[in-house]
Order: sequence, then structure tokens, then C-alpha cells
Amino acid sequence: MSKVLVIGCGGVASVAIQKCCQVSDVFTELCIASRTKSKCDALAEKLAPITKTKITTAQVNADNVEELIALIKSYQPDLVMNIALPYQDLTIMDACLACGVNYMDTANYEPENTDDPAWRAIYEKRCKEEGFSAYFDYSWQWAYKKKFEDAGLTALLGCGFDPGVTQAYCAYAAKHEFDTIDTIDILDCNGGDHGYAFATNFNPEINLREVSAPGSYMENGHWVEVPAMSIKREYNFDQVGEKDMYLLHHEEIESLGKNFPGVKRIRFFMTFGQSYLDHMRCLEDVGMLSTTPINYNGQEIVPIQFLKALLPDPASLGPRTKGKTNIGCIFTGTKDGKPKTYYIYNVCDHQECYKEVGSQAISYTTGVPAMCGALMMLTGQWTKPGVYTVEEFNPDPFLDALDKYGLPRSENRAPALVD
Ligand code: NDP
Repeated sequence: MSKVLVIGCGGVASVAIQKCCQVSDVFTELCIASRTKSKCDALAEKLAPITKTKITTAQVNADNVEELIALIKSYQPDLVMNIALPYQDLTIMDACLACGVNYMDTANYEPENTDDPAWRAIYEKRCKEEGFSAYFDYSWQWAYKKKFEDAGLTALLGCGFDPGVTQAYCAYAAKHEFDTIDTIDILDCNGGDHGYAFATNFNPEINLREVSAPGSYMENGHWVEVPAMSIKREYNFDQVGEKDMYLLHHEEIESLGKNFPGVKRIRFFMTFGQSYLDHMRCLEDVGMLSTTPINYNGQEIVPIQFLKALLPDPASLGPRTKGKTNIGCIFTGTKDGKPKTYYIYNVCDHQECYKEVGSQAISYTTGVPAMCGALMMLTGQWTKPGVYTVEEFNPDPFLDALDKYGLPRSENRAPALVD
């Protein structure tokens, strides 16, 4: 029996909310709050006839801590699920602390305005000290650890698929499959086709910022940074086939490096088609991915936000997208003194997701883990005061929940390795 406040009602949140409503004995009451209340009302109306969960809705600007505090105080939830944008992570964490409520999200903090001089000074220091230059990193949220510990509250960071399930796969491999892990390769393959020349599978602004950043990986505890899309490999993915994939910086490398310091190398690869890469390069070359406002005819415009307005809404891709995703981790290491390799992954079908929840697989593979992470917290299986990433909790009940609620694992004990 629990009350949950979900902030955000976009592509990922709508899947997470629908999945929560399939587990009404735990998620007994849900409040959906977002910037545009009409979207929350429409989803609540769709779900009312088919769930026992009692759903209410609210309007909130999650950039405003006072508004959030007023909402949390009036609703009194056991948990706040932040499924808005990474820009709101810190304001929502502040509000949770002020109200004494547990917190979770699906992506680590990054600022909306990367030209803010106060943020930039800290960012540039971090780039020099750490050696990677992506706009997002965990330092801002890890800085809340003591505050959450002192308040006796749990904050769970990055509980989507990647980050999220990929770290649970690492915790599972460390617990059950290996005595020592030498390398981790995280492989994110989207074999789906939506028929557009160019579209992003989740929030375009966040997605394009991520993939246009320099690539990086961790080797012997240090970051190695390379130009964006400069390391390419081919891989033959189960149920998808042969795809080109590129090394990217990704947030879970940072937390895995900290929590598994003995691992010698951690990399992340994502598949991209040539059309996506050509469009992205062209948009970048003409300045359309810039986050710096320009003045156009007396009006201030942020190029990447204008581009977002032109691109298809990721939520509209559901009915058009065919094919499968395959996301997982390949490990090398030792067990009982012998060398060992192991691959654990999930395959998810875009059309099956659309049939079940009206979304494509990218929203589905993020929304289901968000619900399962909330389930772990609400049932007391993942609670400890402080701020944690997924690999710091017991992976077993989480992976069992994913198996049950739509993202079953597959395993391969003799996988092809990535060179
Ligand atoms: P969408 O853009 O589809 O949805 C974002 C939602 O947040 C919208 O409902 C939006 O409201 C709401 N929102 C934005 N700003 C505010 C605000 N200031 N106050 C209140 N509500 C606000 O994004 P997605 O659903 O695609 O992504 C959601 C999150 O999931 C992101 O953080 C993304 O990075 C993360 N993600 C994580 C993945 C993982 O595997 N870990 C993979 C994919 C995404 P409105 O509609 O009114 O604008």
C-alpha cells in the first residue's frame, strides 16, 4: 500500500505509470504531475477503467522548489519518481529533502543552461581533473549523499535501462558469475525503423546532447576521451543482426568505475544508422545543436530547442516503429581460477511494446525499470539512507521483477567479444 508522486508525463513516464497501474496492490495511489496538466489528465482518464490504482493529477513547474514542496506536502507521497528531464533532478531532490520523502530518477543531472558562468567554472574544473567533457556527471547528485543519509532517506539515481538495468547486470555478474571482472562492454542496439529520415527515440534535446559529446571510456581507473563517433565496431546482435556501433560517453561508466574499481576497462557502444549520423553531423556543423541562445528577429531562440520543435515527438514514433532493441553487457574475467566470458541482455520488440502500452521500445525499456526500481523501494528491498546508483543494490529481486514485467533477460556464456 503506497502513494507515489510521478513528475513528468512524457514518453518514459507514460510507460512507467501504466506499468505501476499493473501492480495496483503496491502502487495503490498515484499522482501524475507535470508542466502540462492536460497530458496527465488524458493518461489518468485512459487508465481509470483498467486499473485499481487511484490516480489524481496536478500541474507543477519542477524547476521551482517551492511549488514542488507545496505539491509534495499536500499529496504526502512515500516516493517521488522524477521522470521529467535531468534539468530538474536537483530541484526535485531539494524538495524531497525538505519534505522527508524518498527520491528516484532515470538520468543524472545536467544543467539546461550550459553557459551559466557558475556552473561552467565547476564543469571546466571537473573536465580537467576527471578527463571527460560531457555536460552530465554524477558529482552534483552524489554531493547530496550526506543530506539524504542524515534525513534517513533513499535516493536512487538513473533507474532506466542504461543507466539502470545495465548496472544491475554488472552487479549480477559480480555476484553470481565471476570472482574477478576484467572488462565490461555495454552494448545498446536499437534495430528499430520508424521510417523517418531523422528522429530521436527519446527527448531530442537530451538525446542529441548525449550523442554529440566526445566519446570516452574508462581504463585502469582513468578516463580516455576520443572525438565523438571516432571508434566504430560491428556486432551481430541476437534477434537484430549485424549493426554498426560507436563508442559513446555514458553516465553509468562513471558509477561503475567507482563501485567496481578492479575492472580494467569499461566501455559503452550504441548503434547508429548512417542516415542518423549524416543528419546529426550536418545539424551540428550549421549550429543547430547549440545550447547557446541566439537573437532572431528580436526573439531569443536556443537552436537545439528550436530543432526539438521541428523533429517528430518521440511519443509519436510508437505506431511507426518496427524491429527490436537488444541492450546488455559483455563481461570478461575469471571464475574458479579459469578465464570466463558472459553476456546478459534483453531483447525488446517495438511493436509488442506499442500493443501493450502505446509506446515504442525505447520508452518501454526505460519506463519498465523505473517502475521496477520504485517497486524495490516501496517493498523495502532497496532502501538505505543516502544516494545510490542501481549497482549498489541487490540485483536479484530487480532482475526477477524485470523478467516478470516485460524485460526478461537472456544469457550467452560464449559471446563474440568486441575488440
Ligand atoms: P519527454 O520530453 O517525453 O518528457 C519529459 C516530461 O517532463 C514531459 O512530460 C514534460 O512536460 C515534463 N517536464 C519537463 N520540464 C518540466 C518542468 N520544468 N516541470 C514539470 N514537468 C516538466 O522525455 P522522455 O520521457 O523521453 O525522458 C524522460 C527522462 O528519461 C529524461 O530524463 C531522459 O533523460 C530519461 N531517459 C533515460 C533513459 C535510460 O535508459 N536511463 C533512456 C531514455 C530517457 P511537458 O510535456 O509539459 O513539456
